[in-house]
Amino acid sequence: MMAQYLEIKAQNPGALLFYRMGDFYEMFFDDAVAAAEALDIALTKRGFHLGEPIAMCGVPVHAAEGYLLTLIRKGFRVAIAEQLEDPAEAKKRGSKSVVRRDVVRLVTPGTLTEDALLEARRHNFLCAFAEVREESALAWADISTGELRVMSCPPARLGPELARLAPREVLVSEAREAEWAGIVTESGAALTRLSRGSFDSVSAEKRLCALFDVGTLEGFGRFDRAELSAMGALVDYLDLTQRGKLPLLRPPVKEAPGGSMQIDAATRRNLELTQALSGGRDGSLLAAVDRTVTAAGARLLERRISSPSRDLAVIHSRLESVRFLLEQSLLRTELRDALRRVPDMDRALSRLALDRGGPRDLAAIRAGLTQAVSIAARLDGAPVLLDDAARALVGHEALVDLLDQALVAEPPLLARDGGFIAPGFDGELDQARRLRDEGRGVIAAMQADFIAQTGIQSLKIKHNNVLGYFIETTSTHAEKMLSPPLSETFIHRQTTAGQVRFTTVELSEMETRILNAGNHALEIEKRHFEALRAAVLTASGTVGGAARGLAEIDLAAAWADLAADEGWSEPVVDESRAFLVEGGRHPVVERALRRQGAGPFVANDCALTHGGTPAIWLLTGPNMAGKSTFLRQNALIALLAQAGSFVPATRAHLGLVSQLFSRVGAADDLARGRSTFMVEMVETAAILNQADDRSLVILDEIGRGTATYDGLSIAWATMEHLHGQNRCRALFATHYHEMTALSGKLDGVENATVAVKEWEGEVIFLHEVRKGAADRSYGVQVARLAGLPAAVVDRAKVVLEALESGERQGGARPKALIDDLPLFSVTSSAPPAPRVVAKESAVEARLRDAHPDEMTPMEALRFVYELKDLL
Ligand code: ADP
Repeated sequence: MMAQYLEIKAQNPGALLFYRMGDFYEMFFDDAVAAAEALDIALTKRGFHLGEPIAMCGVPVHAAEGYLLTLIRKGFRVAIAEQLEDPAEAKKRGSKSVVRRDVVRLVTPGTLTEDALLEARRHNFLCAFAEVREESALAWADISTGELRVMSCPPARLGPELARLAPREVLVSEAREAEWAGIVTESGAALTRLSRGSFDSVSAEKRLCALFDVGTLEGFGRFDRAELSAMGALVDYLDLTQRGKLPLLRPPVKEAPGGSMQIDAATRRNLELTQALSGGRDGSLLAAVDRTVTAAGARLLERRISSPSRDLAVIHSRLESVRFLLEQSLLRTELRDALRRVPDMDRALSRLALDRGGPRDLAAIRAGLTQAVSIAARLDGAPVLLDDAARALVGHEALVDLLDQALVAEPPLLARDGGFIAPGFDGELDQARRLRDEGRGVIAAMQADFIAQTGIQSLKIKHNNVLGYFIETTSTHAEKMLSPPLSETFIHRQTTAGQVRFTTVELSEMETRILNAGNHALEIEKRHFEALRAAVLTASGTVGGAARGLAEIDLAAAWADLAADEGWSEPVVDESRAFLVEGGRHPVVERALRRQGAGPFVANDCALTHGGTPAIWLLTGPNMAGKSTFLRQNALIALLAQAGSFVPATRAHLGLVSQLFSRVGAADDLARGRSTFMVEMVETAAILNQADDRSLVILDEIGRGTATYDGLSIAWATMEHLHGQNRCRALFATHYHEMTALSGKLDGVENATVAVKEWEGEVIFLHEVRKGAADRSYGVQVARLAGLPAAVVDRAKVVLEALESGERQGGARPKALIDDLPLFSVTSSAPPAPRVVAKESAVEARLRDAHPDEMTPMEALRFVYELKDLL
């Protein structure tokens, strides 16, 4: 057995091997040690290998899914080796023969299909990135729904695209692994390296043609070498992990790179589109706007929010369907009620295709298609998008009829135990079942006969897996039973502590008949299962189309429901450079305030055009006033509109946004080993280099991460560049009041501020955005609200006054002013505070100008020596 184990293990490098032994999957050697730790289960020993005890651990087969999930989440891949024959068969070959086993599947993060391992409302994408000479491409598939897409993707766009798709696993060629490992890992996906052969574009084309059973791929579109290579690698990997059982992939769809609003990883994080900064779905835009009632609808919503469209026709047709369902509120309610009864057909289909499905998956298709018909009937006269969807919902009558007649109302999960084919569907099956059930009835009746025959009232007929049916009496009756005349009929089988067990010819004959009938019934049911599965798979193209149609209707109805409940309005989206929002709100913050029972959200206007050309607002105001909220709400409104939704505003007129950028000053990013300021500058550079006049840019306190004058000058120059070069629509929040002077110099730059009121020394946040500059920053008051000790707040006020009056009197250096201030004292008895500002030493000066981010380790060492010299 160990020889077999080691052989299988050697064929599956890089994966934990789940080795099936009876009711357990066992792991040995290093696998056992790693798995025991990851799963927190007991590590034991079994036998010896090369004189060393073999480490072992195991998980029961019936609970394996839970353990698999934990392992996959912790970054493992698992190869599952099953027993491929009955142990009895192996014995026939000789007493020492080992049961044949082999890996039937490789479980990896990107290739899951089981409901228990998947999140119903999210996609589970597997990506492949390929390069062929000057071309490069990204392909992605969700094997649990059959979606396959590809796009040409220059290396620089790999990071943003991975951020958009949030795949679980990314395939790259071993030749280029080092190049892409960083970007892939940063996206949170597992990196899998495949041989160059897997990426070969010529064999890729052949593989794809074979998969879709076509002579040429031209019918699906024109694909360049890199695109073929990426898709080919996906298919090759699926073949490897699914061991030849290829999932039901739909023909590839080519995505045009310019088709959706471009949003890079930092912006997605920052705007908390599908994930909150805290990591979960809660608190994200997605969670706040999700009113879908089906899992497929929820997945579609996630896709739309991750890639809002840039195609006006597409946007208008989505908005039109939302408007229609908003007006038809009764219809909407009916549709949503019907949709609630629609199961996840996509995932049922994919399990059936991979031969991992059961009767319940067939029932899911039946239920989905049945609802589909009644949903389609309600959509007569609907706008084109809904009408197209409705059209895909009908025409499955024959399949529904077949499933309806064949299946019982609530079939069991597994086909193995039978019991899912409805009575009346197959005469032969009905007869076999009748025989089986009658036999059981006959046996129950036999007990009375035997009691009469023996005169033993306590005699019973029982059943167990070893003996089958048997007659049992207590041992007090043993003698009577074992002697004539009873011993002529009753054949002794077993004596236990208190009982004696018998059988009769009649009983064993009946048992055989029951068994045969039962097995026969099971066989017939299995045959039907295969036939039904084949019928569903033959129709998989149109069934999948129906599933997509339902998702589209669900999403449109969900948007309409949201708009109705929250009072959202339809945006005007066009080719212009307009950006006009009246009464805009932040959907997530508003929801949070409502939940907390806090005051109402204050709606605000925003107009980022100046005589038809893009304009920039410079927003000042104290901390906590609502600057970030205002900035983000405007970005979200543009994004929602292009995703096809109504928007949280009373009125919105938006010119198409091609790229959306959002940056927040000095966000901590220690994980990536760059200083916060460096990250901020790298990200700002990306905007200044990429933003065009169709972009919408949101900058929140850029320059905060460095010394005041450095920061101010960077913010100033950034603003000038945005205005003069990028010429984009932008919102710029800053605490550098000096920048408000820019509005006087640059055409199209306007000052705005979030209003606060001061009342008896306290600030009151009004959250109202008004034209004009903030008079002061109220930082000290906000600090008091935060609970800073009163003595510190008082002292801060004194320092502030001194600084401000110094500035007014012609700008004495702050340091000098501070030197002149009386010392800080909390109470008269407190020890005098140390002087805060001392003269800067040579070492300090040198340190201040150093840039560790840009140093190599060698330069850093040299730098230390240099410092030492200065002492
Ligand atoms: P800033 O960026 O100016 O420091 P934030 O945008 O982070 O301020 O807002 C601080 C808090 O104020 C938010 O968490 C929210 O509770 C509240 N707030 C912001 N904008 C509004 C608004 N328009 N209406 C009501 N409350 C708001």
